[in-house]
Order: sequence, then structure tokens, then C-alpha cells
Amino acid sequence: EAIIASVTRKDTEYMYPKKPDGRPIYPSEIYGERVFTLKDMAKALPKPVFASFLKQRRGHHSLDKATADAVAHAVRCWAMDRGATHFTHWFQPQTGTTAEKHDAFLSLITNFTPGGEEVTPMDMFSGSQLLQSEPDASSFPSGGMRSTFEARGYTIWDTSSPLFIQPGPNGTSVLYIPSVFISYNGEALDEKTVLLRSNEALSRACTQLLALIEPQARVNHVYTTLGTEQEFFLVDRSMYVLRPDLKITGRTLIGNLPPRHQQLEDHYFGKIPSRVMRAMSDLELECARLGVPLKTRHNEVAPGQFEVAPIFEESSVAVDHNLLTMSILHRVAHRHNLRALFHEKPYKGINGSGKHCNWSVCTDRGENLLDPTIRPESNYRFIIILLAVLHAVQEYAPLLRLAISSSSNDHRLGAQEAPPSIISIFLGDQLSEVLDSIEENRPIKNFSVPEFKTISVGGTVLDLKVAALPNISRDLTDRNRTSPFAFTGNKFEFRAVGSKQSPSFPVAILNSAVTSAVSDIIQDLEAVRGDKPYLTDEDKLSVIRKYITLTKPIRFEGDGYTNDWQTEAEKRGLPIIKTSPEAFDYLLDAKYVNMLTKKVNIFTEAELRSRFYILNERYAKDILIEAETIKSMINQLVLPAGFEYRKVLAEAASALKSVDVDNSPEVATLNKLTTVIKNLQSAYNKLVEVVENFNHAEEADENSSVHAKLALSTIRPAIEATRVSSDELESLVADKYWPIPKYTELLLTV
Ligand code: ADP
Ligand code: MG
Repeated sequence: EAIIASVTRKDTEYMYPKKPDGRPIYPSEIYGERVFTLKDMAKALPKPVFASFLKQRRGHHSLDKATADAVAHAVRCWAMDRGATHFTHWFQPQTGTTAEKHDAFLSLITNFTPGGEEVTPMDMFSGSQLLQSEPDASSFPSGGMRSTFEARGYTIWDTSSPLFIQPGPNGTSVLYIPSVFISYNGEALDEKTVLLRSNEALSRACTQLLALIEPQARVNHVYTTLGTEQEFFLVDRSMYVLRPDLKITGRTLIGNLPPRHQQLEDHYFGKIPSRVMRAMSDLELECARLGVPLKTRHNEVAPGQFEVAPIFEESSVAVDHNLLTMSILHRVAHRHNLRALFHEKPYKGINGSGKHCNWSVCTDRGENLLDPTIRPESNYRFIIILLAVLHAVQEYAPLLRLAISSSSNDHRLGAQEAPPSIISIFLGDQLSEVLDSIEENRPIKNFSVPEFKTISVGGTVLDLKVAALPNISRDLTDRNRTSPFAFTGNKFEFRAVGSKQSPSFPVAILNSAVTSAVSDIIQDLEAVRGDKPYLTDEDKLSVIRKYITLTKPIRFEGDGYTNDWQTEAEKRGLPIIKTSPEAFDYLLDAKYVNMLTKKVNIFTEAELRSRFYILNERYAKDILIEAETIKSMINQLVLPAGFEYRKVLAEAASALKSVDVDNSPEVATLNKLTTVIKNLQSAYNKLVEVVENFNHAEEADENSSVHAKLALSTIRPAIEATRVSSDELESLVADKYWPIPKYTELLLTV
């Protein structure tokens, strides 16, 4: 029935909006129409109020009450004109998703008059409602930072991210207030607070560095930029609803690959299926309205896998926009009878999904500090920032590894199609040569191959040997898909980040590590400058040389999928951290705690401890939920199918006894089936046993890290073993007895 539903269903008609006169609306005309921009605010506020808002926002002071009231009034009128009935603080607790609680604008004003009470309904929204709200913090993960009896937590408007409206029910809409979420004592309970802190810390460190190496540039502020390439799978909803594992855990716990999946390499950049295209187009429209600048869309490597990527933005806004993109995609996919899967590894044996975080640092004059320019070898500012990133990643690789760790990403990392779990950096030939030549104090090899004409920016002109084709410029670096952290032209690309996770924590950790590295470099530069008024080129070069030598081990240009790299990485002393719980331990390691707290002051020790607890607890829970899910599927779906088919075969064998005494093929299949069912039953029993043992151990011991490690070492293999038997059974049982959609239907129906 599900299959029939999927093929007979009428497509949802998708119409791009038109102008009243029937002409098409350009995307740029829709862009940001649901965002309360600074321009909208300027229009709605008296000039001095607006000016004072800007001043307070820039200085990161808290807003005064009068300004807040005026902004609240203006934004309420703007939002209500667009159908808003409610407002909500929108924040990012440590659950990987966003949280919101809606409040109506509607209020009642009671007037006490001699004639009795007079109640007047009014739409109201005060400055204090805009600025802060108090959700019951005890229902969010806090890692023991608060006990339930002191559950106060506050959400506070993050004025650096714009207010916006999203559609609500029945043609209404809701005003969204991007917020941070902190405890009564000001500790971060969310992902955003630490990201904002890390951005400020990095800005301070970089401005100090720039003042030292380029005092004439007068940079006051730098910010980090982020562009998130988001991969995901789409699956037909009528298949999806029949898979308890997908619904509950986000990935298939059982199932065999179809004979054709991604071997032919025909899906990547292939023609986007029309239903998916309509869903994506819907997504782009909704995103454009919210000022989320989606730019690219394409098929990914696996069947049913796709990607969208935005134009990069300031990183905290980019994070908000990535989370919005994911939530909107959920909504529009539903409209097209599709389900979006953001899990890092929904299907065993084919490519998983990542979220490549493209990251750079930009000055307040819009200069990208990772732009190599035409002559990177003499662009000391670029080289020093580049080395700061190399130094950061080398010094704090375990932190980066931990920032991308989760039970779901564990399935993807190192799976021969995703970045390995060893953190290293790919620079490409040209930059490697730049660093090598400086280190060896020799002229740089010429990168413009003689017969190629060089062009002025960013590359060379390739000769295509076909007269009809135009000349194209070639990038200075080739791609290396096997690197978890790659330099790609004028930015770094952190590829190991999981598709499901918020980019916030990985970027906050990266910012923290780079801040620390920049401050090391500042110290060295100040030391070589001594009493001189400024640094000479020789001074800079001496520090540059030191860091080139220091950061050699983290540079790796080869194939990250090979076993040789493991051996080589070990030799270089790079940490090889295969699983998440191992990585989590680094959150309590003195070296890393010291950096994150005392040195760059982005986390408190309590925040790190709480994160350690939340991450471990989440890890164990995820695995336990998978165990319970596969248990119920085996018991209620898979084994009954095996039994049913076995009975049919047994009946057939007995009915055919007289014709086919010794070599009945039914009996042969029956025997095979019986063995597989018995294997499955014993794998299932083993799983039940390890889950019971886990539950006892969990009661006996409070330590969340012990739980996570125990779940990993005992439950996960038992789940895997159960799967192997179940998958064997799937390949034996007649299709009509198999009660759930198989990989063929899941992967090839979109
Ligand atoms: P590639 O295909 O090499 O990864 P793209 O041009 O497709 O490069 O860019 C991928 C993502 O990187 C996009 O989201 C893009 O906006 C983002 N990006 C480009 N430049 C920067 C930058 N300076 N800082 C952050 N992100 C960037
Ligand atoms: Mg890319």
C-alpha cells in the first residue's frame, strides 16, 4: 500500500509567487521580507532612539528600558501587520535543536471605575518581554549545573541576530526573537552564548595581532565568517512511517543494500528528481523570505542524498540560519510527502552526511584575512593568520575532534567516505610550497607553468586544447576530499562536522583554539620586537619560521583513508581518537580546560564539566534508544516474518513429501531459515542481556562517562550482531512476508 501510495500520489503543485500584474517576482525582491531589518527599525523608530539602540548594540551594553520599549513597540506593529499573534524567544539548548515557547500579544487591562471593573483587551509587547524571558530551565539539559529546586534560567535577546516572523497556524504568524539561554548565575546553558563569547575573544586577539604587524591598518574589530554546506537524505513519507528505526533513531538499524546504490557514481550532481526539486524550491523561497541566502542545490553521492549551501555570513547569524534551514526543510519536505533525514549515517554501507563548515576571519573593512592574495609568500599577515590556524588545530586537535563527536557521527567518521577521525590539515601544493620555501630560506618555485598565461587574480589560465571552449581560470589548490580540515582557496573547511549537529559548538571551539594560537604568536612577536617601535620583516619572518617548523606534523596532503596514514599519524604523535567517549574525556583534561577557561576565557570550568556530562549522557542514551528500538523491531516485526515464512515452507514441505522425498528445495530453504532464525534469536538474547547489565551498571554508578563507554563497548556490538542476523533473514524471507520497506524502497523512491 505504501508503494502504491507513493506512485499514485498527486504532486503538490508548487507555484512561485507572482506580482499582482502576473509578472514573476525576483528572489531579491522577496529576500528578507520576514525579517525586521535595521532599515525597518530605522523607519519605525524616532531617530534618537534608533541611534541609541545602535550605540548600545555595538558596545554590547544592555539596552536601557526606554529604548527597549520603543523597539518592542515598533517590532510588534511590524509583526502584527504581517499576521503575528504571538512572540517567542528562540534559543539553542544543548539538545542539538532549537527551543521556543509562544506567548500571545493579547493582554487584558483592567480599569477600576466607580461603576465597577472595566476590562479592555489590548495587544501589548513591552521592552522587558523583548529583552528577556524565563523558561523553566530544569527541563533542559544542564549537566548538573542546576538542580531542579533552583531551576531559574533566562533567555536574553541576542541583538546581533535579527528578529523575524515565521508562519504559524491558520494564516497567522509568530515573531521570533533570537536569544541566548543562561543560568541564574550567568553560565551558558546553550550553544550560542559560547559562540558569541568566542567571536569576541577572537576579535580582540586578532585586532591586537593586526595592530602589531600592520599598525597602519587600524582594524577595530574582526569577525568570523561561516558558510555551512548541509547534506541530508530525503525519503518518501509513506515508506518512512513504516520504519520505526528511522522514526525513533533517525537511522536504519536493519536492512541490506540494494544491488545498485552508489557504485555507478551517477547520483552526484545528477538530475535532481522533480519532487525533490519542488521541495528544494519551496525551501529556497521560504529561506529567502527569512533572509537566509541559499545559493547552491545538488544531488549528493548516495541515492536519495542531497545538499544545499548558503552564501557565507557572520558566523553566529550563519548558525541561526543553518538551524532555520534545517527546520524549514523538515516542514516543506512534509508538504511534498517527503521526510528529511539529517542523521549522519541513515543507511549502512553508503555515504553518510556531513555539514562542511567553511570558516574564515574578516576585518571590519571587509578584508578576508585568509585571502592569500597574488603573492602569499610576501603577505605576512596572511601567513601569520594561516599559521595561527595550523598551530591551533595541531595544539588542540582533540578539542576539535570532541566538538564533532556524537553517537551518530561516530558511524560516519573514518567510514572510508567521510573524513577520518584523525585531525590533520590539507593546504594544497601552492601553500605548502610557500611555507616550505620560507622555512628553507630559498626562492619559491614558480607556480605559473610557462605555457599557461597567468591572470591577475587567484590562478592561472588552463589551455583546454579545444578551440571552441573558453579559457578558464584554475584554482590554486586541488581538492582533497579525505581531509577533515582543508584550506580551500580563501577559507578553511571543517569537514568532519556532523550533518545533524548545530555548527555552533564546533565553531566556538575552533574560535577558541585560534584565539589561543594568536595570543601565542603575539607573545613571540612582542619578544622579537623588544624595545623597537615596530616589527621589521626579519622579526616577522623569524616568528613565521618558528611556527612553520612547529606545525609541520599537522599538515598532511595525502589520502586520509589509507592505513598508512594511521601509522604515519601515530609516528607524528597526532592523537588518533576513534570514538566519541574517548574524545569527551579531553573536556576535563587540564591542558584543554586551562586554555578554554583561563587563557581565552570562553568557558567556565562548571560549563565544561556540565558539557562533559551532557555529551556523555546523550551518547549513552542514544545507544540505549537504538537498542530498545531494534529489540522491538526484531521481536514484533522481523522474527514474526521469519516464523510465518518458516511455517509456509514447512507446510509446503509436508504437502510435497510424497513427490519429493529426499531433496525437497523447500526443506533446504527451511533448514537454512531455521539456522538463521536461531542465530537471530541468540543475538537478540545477547542484546537483551547486555542492555540489562547496562541498566544495572547505570544504577550502581553515577559516572556518565563510564555509562557512555559501557554502552559503546557492550551494547553497540550487540546491536550490530543482531543486525547481521536480521539482514541475513531479510535476504531469505519471501518479500511478501517482510513487514517493513527495504533499502530499495527507501533509497530509490524519491
Ligand atoms: P567549495 O565548493 O570549494 O567548498 P563553494 O564556493 O561551494 O566552495 O563554497 C562553499 C561554502 O563556503 C559556501 O557556503 C560559501 O558561501 C562558503 N564560503 C566562501 N567563502 C567563505 C569565507 N570567506 N568564509 C566562510 N565561508 C565561505
Ligand atoms: Mg565545499
